[in-house]
Amino acid sequence: MKFLLVFAVVLIGFYVWRSSREGRRAPPPASPGSAAAKPKAAIDMVQCAHCGIHCPGTDAVTGKDGRRYCTAQHRLDAEH
Ligand SMILES: [Zn+2]
Repeated sequence: MKFLLVFAVVLIGFYVWRSSREGRRAPPPASPGSAAAKPKAAIDMVQCAHCGIHCPGTDAVTGKDGRRYCTAQHRLDAEH
C-alpha cells in the first residue's frame, strides 16, 4: 500500500514538472520569433535616377518614365 502512495506521488510530481516545463517552453519561441520578424520587414530603398542617392521607396517621387527620384525637384531637373 505504501508503494502505491509513493508511485502516485512520483506520477503527480512528474506530471507537474512536465506541465510546468511545457508552459515555460511555449512562450519564448513565440516572442523572439515575432521580435525578429518585425526588423525583417525592411523598407524598400530606391535609387534616385538624378543624383544616385538611396531613399525610402515611400518617399520617392516617380517620374513619367517610371524612374524614381528622391525629391520632386530632382524629377523636374531630370525631365527638363
Ligand atoms: Zn536625387
